[in-house]
Amino acid sequence: MNRRIAGITLSLSLALGTLAFYQQPESTAKAETLSEIKKKQDANKQRGAAAEKKLAQNEHKQDALESEIARLDKISTETDEKIRAKEAEIADTKEEIAELEKEIEVVQKRIDERDKLLKDRVKAMYENGGAVSYLDVMLGSKDFGNFIERVFALNMIADQDKQILEDQKKDKKLLESKKSKVEAALTKLQIAASQLQELRKQLDSQMAAKDKLMGQLKKEQSHLEHEVHKVENAEKLLKAQEAAIRAEMERAARASISNNGGGGSSQPPAGNGMIIKPAAGAITSTFASRFDGMHYGLDIAQGGTVPIHAAADGTVIKSEYSNSYGNVIYISHYIDGQTWTTVYAHMRSRAVQGGSVKRGQMIGYMGNTGQSMGQHLHFELHKGPWNQAKSNAVNPAAYW
Ligand SMILES: [Zn+2]
Repeated sequence: MNRRIAGITLSLSLALGTLAFYQQPESTAKAETLSEIKKKQDANKQRGAAAEKKLAQNEHKQDALESEIARLDKISTETDEKIRAKEAEIADTKEEIAELEKEIEVVQKRIDERDKLLKDRVKAMYENGGAVSYLDVMLGSKDFGNFIERVFALNMIADQDKQILEDQKKDKKLLESKKSKVEAALTKLQIAASQLQELRKQLDSQMAAKDKLMGQLKKEQSHLEHEVHKVENAEKLLKAQEAAIRAEMERAARASISNNGGGGSSQPPAGNGMIIKPAAGAITSTFASRFDGMHYGLDIAQGGTVPIHAAADGTVIKSEYSNSYGNVIYISHYIDGQTWTTVYAHMRSRAVQGGSVKRGQMIGYMGNTGQSMGQHLHFELHKGPWNQAKSNAVNPAAYW
């Protein structure tokens, strides 16, 4: 950039030739203005690099978190599957227990019936003193041998009954021990299931924490992206401003050659008359501190269709729509060795997009676009380049 400045200075020196008295302060002012922009560009670049670095870190953290979330998701899915399997096993086991209980009930019923039958029979034998049975047996017997056989048969039947009863009781015991084993298995399954549920809960809370962290990272990311955009916009503006200032200096240099060649005045019109009031209307807000902070410009308001004029000869830096300024035009001026910048905000429409403008040239119409309450022109004058902090702003009313 220094080489380019040197180049312009050299070409200007050649062009101006004998106008030595003009060269010295002019080139110093140029160097200062451009070095101010260079400084701003460097600071802006640093700001951008810092935001980019943080953005990269943020993206790295998001990547790590995403793989962690994926891992938790996988464990969660597996845990859910395990819980489902355990629950199915529990249901099967409960069914098995219910079936065993039914079987036990059936066997118990048979035991009770058999028991009652045997008791009744014994009771009947006692009640009849055995005599009737004995007589029946005797009367029914062909001989004594047959009688003994019958008695034995009676005992045999009783023994068989007893045997059946014992077998049934054994069956019942077996079923009961099987049932208690299955019940023990059920308890184990239920413990395993509740452990899985506990794991599930832990996973849920871990996942909630990760989601929260991800939300924070996303928020920070959009913050940083916004910052990067701001830096990019500032960079664009600074570049446009640099180009406009250079163009403006060259235009002013050519104008001054013809002025001086014709014996015109080289005295800068300090104060009144340096610029013109850019629009008709009343000053509704002055260059002063307001309830919402310093007001770095003048508000000029009037109803109807109100044309806006370039305050001085100049080069358009930028003509755009922004959320805050609405339709806005920035113009760079180079007046007697000093760079000035004018800003025209909240315009209804813009008539110029770039290039050079003449003092008094219509550049658009007064409007109410962007953050504006009612139709007015917000007009700024900066001694030097425009910057975000508006540190070069001066009261325009002192210059027309
Ligand atoms: Zn304003």
